[in-house]
Amino acid sequence: MNHTNLTLRDLYDTYNLNRRYNHPDNVTFSHSYFGDGKYPPDWGEKRTDISTTHGGRREAIREYQGGLCARCGTDISNSEFNCHHYLSLDQGGKHDLNNLLTLCLPCHRLIHPDVDDLDGNWREAPIFPSIDADPRMATVRKPVVTSERRQYLPSLSLVAEKSTPAENTPALSTATFKIGPGDALAAAEDFERLLDEMGIHFDSEYTVHVTSSADLSLYDATVELTVSSQYGTNITLETTTDRSGNARFELPAGREIKATVTKGRLGPVEFVDTTTTEPRTREITLQD
Ligand SMILES: [Zn+2]
Repeated sequence: MNHTNLTLRDLYDTYNLNRRYNHPDNVTFSHSYFGDGKYPPDWGEKRTDISTTHGGRREAIREYQGGLCARCGTDISNSEFNCHHYLSLDQGGKHDLNNLLTLCLPCHRLIHPDVDDLDGNWREAPIFPSIDADPRMATVRKPVVTSERRQYLPSLSLVAEKSTPAENTPALSTATFKIGPGDALAAAEDFERLLDEMGIHFDSEYTVHVTSSADLSLYDATVELTVSSQYGTNITLETTTDRSGNARFELPAGREIKATVTKGRLGPVEFVDTTTTEPRTREITLQD
C-alpha cells in the first residue's frame, strides 16, 4: 500500500486543481472535460485548458486512497478505474475532493445497477464491501446476522433490508439486483468471508431448553440472544423453541451472551452466560 501523507488540502496544490471548479455551476460547456458541461477541466489527465505535471482530480484521489478501490480495496494503481461522486451531481454533489472516491470498474458498476453505460462487470465485485472500505461505500458492509442468516438468498435486496441502518447510512448508493442461483452462492460465500473478517466465527452450539413449571417442554417460546462481537457491535438473534422446547443457536465461542425468554404471558426470564467451544444447553423454566 502506498498511502500518501498528503492531505486533501495539499493535493489541491500538488495537482494544481482549481477550487473554482469544485462548484458545477462554474463548469461551462466550452471548457468541460468531456464537453458535456458537467466535468471540470481538471478532472483527468487529458486536460483541456490547464497544464500541470500531474493528472487531475481523478489522480489526486487515487493517490489519496493509496491506489486502492474505496470499496473492495483492490489495487487500482496501474489499472483503469472510475472516479465516483459520493453525493451525485443530481443530488447537489460537487467536484470537490471531499466528494470524490476512486473505485475499480466492477465496484462502480455494482453500486449503479441502473446505469447502463458504465464499464465493468458487477459480478466481479464482492457483494459486500471490504471491512476497511471507506465508510461512504459501506452499503451492506455489515449485514445483520440472524439465526436464519442463510435464508436471505437469493434476493440481494433482502440482504440490504437486513443490514443495520445505523452502520450503513453513510453510503448513499444502494445496490438492489435480481440475481440467479450462481450469484446467490457467490453472495453467500462473500457473506461468510465478511463475517470472518469481522471476527465472527460460529463455532459454538448453544441450546436453550425451555420448560414450564409443570416440567413440560414449551413449544414456540421466544428466545432472544444478544452477543457482543469483537468489533463492539452486538448481534441479536431471535428464534422460537421447537416441540421439544429447544431453541438452537450457532454462536461465536467465548462470548458473553444476554438472553430473554418469553412465551405469551409467561416470562420474561433473563439470563447472562458465556459460550464455549463445547456444545452447551441452558435450562430455563417459565413460571405459570
Ligand atoms: Zn472495487
